[in-house]
Amino acid sequence: MDEKLFLADAMLGKLARWIRICGFDTCYADSTMSDTDILDKVEKSGRILITRDRELSMRSACSFLIRSDISDDQLLEFFRKYSPQPSKFFTRCTVCNGKLDPVKPPYDDLAVPESVAERGLEVYVCRNCHKIYWDGTHRKSIENKLRSLMEIIQNENH
Ligand SMILES: [Zn+2]
Repeated sequence: MDEKLFLADAMLGKLARWIRICGFDTCYADSTMSDTDILDKVEKSGRILITRDRELSMRSACSFLIRSDISDDQLLEFFRKYSPQPSKFFTRCTVCNGKLDPVKPPYDDLAVPESVAERGLEVYVCRNCHKIYWDGTHRKSIENKLRSLMEIIQNENH
């Protein structure tokens, strides 16, 4: 199955970060991009435009219109169409969309926080911007939230 690629418009920055957490390859069109720039990029990159702008979505051959302005509901809308795969969670940088590589200790030249290094945790490093991620309470709460959203969708299908 071909991996789907996405381009989120400037109104959907939060959604873009969430679906990156889920491993979806997602570019973000910041507010400096005009509608024409966005449509041009969608066409050239083969990405699916995710937008809350009905008019913009109608001008694009390949778009997904988000209706809600509530973050969790936006994620639900997205998940109903594009099923999240838990095995892909935490494989992509939320800041820049780069792929993450796991690194076990010793961390070579990586600037791993002392509290993480002390516990000997495996970390995940962005290939692109070099941001470092690790397992922790924050990640657990993200996982719990995603799991509960996936449960809501499962229950809808019964
Ligand atoms: Zn990055």
